[in-house]
Amino acid sequence: MRRDMLQPVRGMRDLMPEEASMLRFIEGNARRLAELYGYEEVITPIIEHYELLAAKIGEENKKRMYVFEDLGGRKVALRPEFTASIARLVATKMATAPKPIRLFSFGSLYRYDEPQLGRYREFWQANYELIGSGRPEADAEILLLTNDFLKGLGLRNYIIKVNHVGILRGILGGEGISEDGQNTIMQALDKKNWDEAINLAERLGASERCIRILGYLIDIRGYDKSEFISKVEEAVKGYPEAVSALTNFKEIINLLEKAGVKIQFYFEAGFARGLEYYTGMIFEAYVPELDIAICGGGRYDKLIESFGGGMVPAVGVAFGVDRMMLAMEKQSISIPGSQKEKVLVIPLSNELLAEAIRLVSVLRENGIPSEIEVMGRTLSRALSDASRRNITHAVIIGLKEKSEGKVVLRYMGDKVQEEIRIEDLPVKIRFKSSPHGG
Ligand code: AMP
Repeated sequence: MRRDMLQPVRGMRDLMPEEASMLRFIEGNARRLAELYGYEEVITPIIEHYELLAAKIGEENKKRMYVFEDLGGRKVALRPEFTASIARLVATKMATAPKPIRLFSFGSLYRYDEPQLGRYREFWQANYELIGSGRPEADAEILLLTNDFLKGLGLRNYIIKVNHVGILRGILGGEGISEDGQNTIMQALDKKNWDEAINLAERLGASERCIRILGYLIDIRGYDKSEFISKVEEAVKGYPEAVSALTNFKEIINLLEKAGVKIQFYFEAGFARGLEYYTGMIFEAYVPELDIAICGGGRYDKLIESFGGGMVPAVGVAFGVDRMMLAMEKQSISIPGSQKEKVLVIPLSNELLAEAIRLVSVLRENGIPSEIEVMGRTLSRALSDASRRNITHAVIIGLKEKSEGKVVLRYMGDKVQEEIRIEDLPVKIRFKSSPHGG
């Protein structure tokens, strides 16, 4: 085998035990949150028809899909996001389900992105979609859920960058720029190519006044809500669709404010997102230690309709689990360690092996995580390895003790031990402290 074949494929990673437990810790939080908010889990396939996944994902993202033909000649792709699969479900199997529908998914996604810190070709998301309501309280719920998730992980000083795509689209549409034209401009904005976006608008026929407004709008950003709103209000005059988008945006933010929810918003009028199906409020969250978004979401009212599912408004959020892991690491947030006891059973000779196997089975039946010494090491070596691996109790089986129906229980932390009856072992391990009171 060539040596480089022993490395994971570029952009793919092995999650080693510590990373895997971090990922599962975040998954556990994601599930609890889903339950608290009433989101039910659906598990959709990793492979979908290319056409479904490519339909509304935007030109840039389309180029980054893992596309292939399966053995039946179907053009398929690995999912680059959950939203298309969820929209497919809602347009088909759930078409007659009563609204609202709240769906949660957790799993891996695939994008041929350029690998770098926090950007991988296989990554994980926790995804929440609230389907069937176009009302501001639905957008507010998704923002609240986002804040609860980040706060619940112990993350600090994060901001949620928000905007409403209806503001820019309202202006561009008011100038007669087609949806496709608007999409290319939004893509440029997503990449922070402000000048390119304005040049594009100019080429697509935007008026001189509009170009001036766009230049002004793109610069409006900051933490002050009132200042942001009054500046945008000024900019959107004469574009009725943009005015109503701003009104909708104000309703969402004001609702949270009135409810007393404390979220650190950062308002940015030139902020757009790569996925082109967004129709309303959009957002991303950032921690100061990382300049990449840890989650992103927004309202998409036309996607389900475009899959033939009727006019079903929806809003959702996707959390980048890998980036949450990075953010937690940067902020030195560790996951709560297991408080549980962990036992190593050491037979002192080969003839006691069967007894050791019997004993670990009893302990496991009692719900006590127990391992058996399988390396045939001497007692002292087995014990020093046990300390290294955070074993809390060693159970040492010797011939003499066995003949008396006893074993030696060693409390690893206190480095003390006592002889106890085998039948008392589970209770002793679970409930009693060491004889030295540890
Ligand atoms: P998106 O579906 O593009 O809105 O992405 C939602 C979230 O998924 C982002 O905010 C990231 O946290 C995460 N994400 C997107 N692409 C990647 C990637 N290539 N590697 C790791 N995380 C990603």
